[in-house]
Amino acid sequence: MTTVGQENARMLASLLGIEEADAAQRLDKTVLVTVAPGFTAVGGEVSELLERTIHVARSDEGKPDLELVIGSVQPATSGPYLFASLNQRGVTIDAASLRHSNEHVHPLLTALAACHIAAAALHRVIGSSSLPRFGLPLSVDFAELGIPERGLATALDISGAVLVGGGAVGNGFLRALRHLEVRGTLRMVDPKVVGEGNPNRCLYFTGDHVGLPKAPALAQAAQPDFPGLRLEPHACTFGELVAKTGPADTAIVTVDSRRARRSLQKEIPRRVIDASTTDARAVIVHSHSQPTDDACLACIYRHIPDEHARERSIAEALGIDIETVREGFISPDAAARIAKAHFSVEASTIVGRAYDTLFKELCSAQALLTPEGRQVLAPFAFVSALAGVLLVVELLRSNHQAATTNYWTVDPWGAPIGRLRRLRPRVPECEFCADDDARSLAHSLWTQNGEVR
Ligand SMILES: [Zn+2]
Repeated sequence: MTTVGQENARMLASLLGIEEADAAQRLDKTVLVTVAPGFTAVGGEVSELLERTIHVARSDEGKPDLELVIGSVQPATSGPYLFASLNQRGVTIDAASLRHSNEHVHPLLTALAACHIAAAALHRVIGSSSLPRFGLPLSVDFAELGIPERGLATALDISGAVLVGGGAVGNGFLRALRHLEVRGTLRMVDPKVVGEGNPNRCLYFTGDHVGLPKAPALAQAAQPDFPGLRLEPHACTFGELVAKTGPADTAIVTVDSRRARRSLQKEIPRRVIDASTTDARAVIVHSHSQPTDDACLACIYRHIPDEHARERSIAEALGIDIETVREGFISPDAAARIAKAHFSVEASTIVGRAYDTLFKELCSAQALLTPEGRQVLAPFAFVSALAGVLLVVELLRSNHQAATTNYWTVDPWGAPIGRLRRLRPRVPECEFCADDDARSLAHSLWTQNGEVR
């Protein structure tokens, strides 16, 4: 099995509580996507998401496990079928055929629809009652997103923002952002290289990108989608960029650990727009502007005891101490120690990589059945893509002062529900908010003459 297939199988093994081999079998499925004229944009996006996880058939490949029929078109096989339709109000997915109207749908909404259609198709072919509940028909109402009026029609100058993280959600963010008219310069930071499992969910990456630094690889792959925007990659951390160029106006946060988020908050960006995934079970969106009396990024991702457990299991599995794991990236010295405990590992090939990544590659599916292991699991492509779309939506809401809440959790197997948005309060023990110096620095940085800048 390829590394990409393995990452997907581990994800499913963990979700269902089964062995990796059984999971691989369940993912060995073929979906035929039949698309009506007028629905080719959504059909294309759905196929791109699905083919990172299962096999997407061309029409001449024999009987598929599922035929996904999008729009008003005659099915090509005798089934089983899943039908999908979308219009300006939303997307509907059902086991029975649907009524259609051919309306122009904004491509950002089409991209969101594609995530939900891919989820439904995947749920159908995996066919397990252990997966998160999935009810048909599924209706997604675009109004639940709370996109401000004119938000999709106005050109956006994104200069001053930094995209933090070039992994799955970072890819998803750019894939979604390409559907808006964006100008200026977007700086992008990521100190890591593209790992072998990344193409399972990073839509701009292919096998050819493995081993290359993430930020430049992503910038180069995505640049053709942004004629009016310059992507400026930096192969370093957000902290290193801030040290060079000064505080950032907006951090668009897509990093993969709670610890990295807390340390990012200490760099005090004026504004944070953040999205994360909890394996394939949830997408979490957070935003705030400094100074704030409500939750900051470090409040939302405050330290939880489980993190110790995760770091401990990584340390134990790799044969190093927990303090070393907390450094985040593998030093030459640590690489030598890991190579001693794992004969299959060559020290020189792992220097500079993230501990989470190596842990995922080395440890069996069994290790990933623990809650600590689950936190480092790679989600399916559609989950990261959904996080990317919701990140763009949050950016629009924040730009138009429509973000009166700071926290939203969305079930990737269900529909986004606007009333679940919440305003979360500051956490008294937050390592940023409880630090008076840090808070007064935030005030002096981002307020002028008593006015918020
Ligand atoms: Zn805080």
